[in-house]
Amino acid sequence: MTDNLYSNSEYNSEPDLVLDAKIQLLAGKLSVANRIVFLTGAGVSTDSGIPDFRSSTGIYQMTSEDLFRIDRFLANTEWFYSIFGNFYAGIADAKPNTGHLAIAELEKRCGKLIDVVTQNIDALHSAAGSTSVAEVHGTLRTASCLKCAKQYSQDYFEPDMRSGRVPRCSCGGALKPDVTFFGEMLPEHAFVQARSAMKEAELLVVVGTSLQVTPAALLPRECPADTPFVIINKTPTYLDSEAALVFYESIGDVLPQAVSLVKSA
Ligand SMILES: [Zn+2]
Repeated sequence: MTDNLYSNSEYNSEPDLVLDAKIQLLAGKLSVANRIVFLTGAGVSTDSGIPDFRSSTGIYQMTSEDLFRIDRFLANTEWFYSIFGNFYAGIADAKPNTGHLAIAELEKRCGKLIDVVTQNIDALHSAAGSTSVAEVHGTLRTASCLKCAKQYSQDYFEPDMRSGRVPRCSCGGALKPDVTFFGEMLPEHAFVQARSAMKEAELLVVVGTSLQVTPAALLPRECPADTPFVIINKTPTYLDSEAALVFYESIGDVLPQAVSLVKSA
């Protein structure tokens, strides 16, 4: 009996030992680097209850590629908002999870210079406390008038968006969320910010993205040649073979543990 128990526990703990050792290696990399860039995607927000819209169904009714099309939005703004209400509420009610908080902690507690480059539109990195966030696909925190371009914050348009009405500017024009719709140009200022962050990176941590959507997926190529990459994603990416460390575990099982090992500033 004793032998069985012993061998079982040893067998069961082996994968954890490997993971623990890798987490220590990640902690070491986070400790020695001063300027760290996090490139994040949908996977960092799934623990906040936000599904990956590229493959989402259910309450979201359709994928982002069906919903966020600028031609449809302009042709039938009422239709867009009638569906967008559920979608918006699901994101607006979401809270940062341990992954977002760990990234913010590196900045606040450990004194690191952190740049977050995110493909997410949920603004959860800012909500967690990260101060440098380049939102390369835009954000749901603001919306702008299609007629006069005046920009509004969430307080103004949130009641309309939640209830499926078209939010309107004081000039009467319809507001459009400041996220990049399919068929629209990407926000140039965010890409300028993202590229300059990559060029300064001493360490790049890719979190929760399979790096399939260009041009965001190509941003790691802007890093200096000697910048190490760490990938934390459930599925493989094109950068895995070049990475110093690759985790296929969930973000919440890796990043908070690694950050907790980094000493305070
Ligand atoms: Zn207006």
